[in-house]
Amino acid sequence: MYFYLATMLKDSMSSHITSELEAQAALTREFLIEKLPAKDNFTYDLIDPLVDRLGKANNARVTFIGLDGVVWGDTERDGQALRAMNNHLTRPEVQDAIKKGNGIRDRYSDTTQTEFRYFALPIHRNVGAEVSPNGEGTLIGICRVALPMVAVNTAIGNLRRIVLIASVAGLILAIVFSVFSTSVITKPIQKLTQMTQSLAAGNINSRVPVDSRNELGQLSQNFNLMADRIQEQIDTISEEHRRSATILRNMGEGVLLVNGASEITYANPTAISMLALPEAYIGKALIEINRIPELQALLKKAEQTETIAFAEIQLGNLREPEAEVTVVPVSAGQEYIIVVHDVTKERQLERIRADFVANVSHELRTPLTTIRGYAETLLSENSVRTKTAEQFIVKILNHSARLTRLISDLLELSRLELGEVELKRSPCHLNTFHEPLLDVFEPLLEESGLVLKWEIPEKLPTVNVDPQLFMQIFVNLIDNAIKYTPDGGAITVAADICRREEIEGSNIASEEFILSVKDTGTGIPMESQSRVFERFYRVDEGRAREMGSTGLGLAIVKHIVRCHNGRIWLESTLGQGSVFYVAVPL
Ligand code: ADP
Repeated sequence: MYFYLATMLKDSMSSHITSELEAQAALTREFLIEKLPAKDNFTYDLIDPLVDRLGKANNARVTFIGLDGVVWGDTERDGQALRAMNNHLTRPEVQDAIKKGNGIRDRYSDTTQTEFRYFALPIHRNVGAEVSPNGEGTLIGICRVALPMVAVNTAIGNLRRIVLIASVAGLILAIVFSVFSTSVITKPIQKLTQMTQSLAAGNINSRVPVDSRNELGQLSQNFNLMADRIQEQIDTISEEHRRSATILRNMGEGVLLVNGASEITYANPTAISMLALPEAYIGKALIEINRIPELQALLKKAEQTETIAFAEIQLGNLREPEAEVTVVPVSAGQEYIIVVHDVTKERQLERIRADFVANVSHELRTPLTTIRGYAETLLSENSVRTKTAEQFIVKILNHSARLTRLISDLLELSRLELGEVELKRSPCHLNTFHEPLLDVFEPLLEESGLVLKWEIPEKLPTVNVDPQLFMQIFVNLIDNAIKYTPDGGAITVAADICRREEIEGSNIASEEFILSVKDTGTGIPMESQSRVFERFYRVDEGRAREMGSTGLGLAIVKHIVRCHNGRIWLESTLGQGSVFYVAVPL
């Protein structure tokens, strides 16, 4: 504004002075045309006073110059000084006035030693019979009006000063206003920014003061509400976290968290003591701390299959697996939860129970043998005369035979459970069992009108099993099939080799053989299928007891299969028949 106004004012002042000069010069000319004596009568005494009067009236310097350049009158010079003034015809404004009709110049005056703006006009007058070609009259001289530029420059300087003061005042006002607006508008925004920064830095308690009702106030209020909401949620999460931490700290199961690189990221106190973790276990690879290959294998299995992996693992030096370990993938390849359930006590109790059963069975066997002995003696002696007594003795014998069977089954089962049975593996072909089985079952098969189809191919490789125990598997499964298949049915025994992808540390695929015993019997209801391998479980209690079954057969089979590191399962459709499968690694 200042620079624009300063330039503009200078220009307008300048043009104003010029037009003033022009007006004064025009008036001066008119006055001089009127008052000047005839050209030939020019004298200093006549003209100078006229010029002085005009100068006084105009408040300017007025000069009259004759055609020959003689200065006849000047407001600045009188008397001798006037007469001594040099020829003025060469002055540029005078030349312009003669040639162009007027002349204007800003120039330094040698006469007065100051800067002037000169404006010169020619003076024409009709003198006697003399007629100028343009009708204006004859040129008799030049009048010149001049204003000192000092005054003009002073006026412009004054105006500039005023503009400068106004500009400075405006600037100060603008600064004051911006400072004010900063405090009114920017301050709350700064506070908001600080609060959000503090929130982002985790200082959840920071709030912004709300001291206006405008949009900024609203914004601050919303921010505070948001912070409240975040605080509530953090409180809830913290509470849940505390609760989970308490549960994890106090639970009986060991819980471990490992990342994708198998490094421990968390372990609860139970896990620390169970796996004997050192103090600085966080970030350590599980393999570094804990050298239990089964645990590593289980973790690898969960990593590869991305599903829950479960195994019974021996953590200590005891014979039984001491813990049931479950590995649960949390996020694919990122994190895994390992839950270790200590089953040492359960296993101990099971051992105590099996011991007890074994002891009781053993103790029962001797009196039972005595009872059977006496009953047999009684029956063979002639002393038994009455029919009723004979019937009773037969019953005693039958029941004691059943009891003997039950006791020997119980003893067998206890021995298997206690791990007292030592496997005597020897390579044999499954077909070697055919003949002995026929010897056992032929009469029974004929009696029941059933056929036994033996479909084990000769090309099947030999298997490395305990023949005596495996015979028991065959006997139990075929015996059951005969028992639960009506007349005219068929029992099929088959076997095949199967490749199995095994993930136990290595990626070696193992082979196993699968033996199946299929019947066309009654079938097993769905709800009982998972329970038939439990001891004493019978689908139809009454019928089974009638048939003299103990409910221990499949439990024994299951244990023998386990001793061979195998698996047993069944498929059955009610009314159509069942298939029992036994898979054992080759
Ligand atoms: P059991 O000595 O009674 O045969 P198991 O343990 O061998 O005892 O069998 C348990 C129960 O499973 C039997 O009581 C029977 O109900 C059922 N079961 C076993 N095998 C068969 C089969 N082949 N067909 C139908 N039911 C069967």
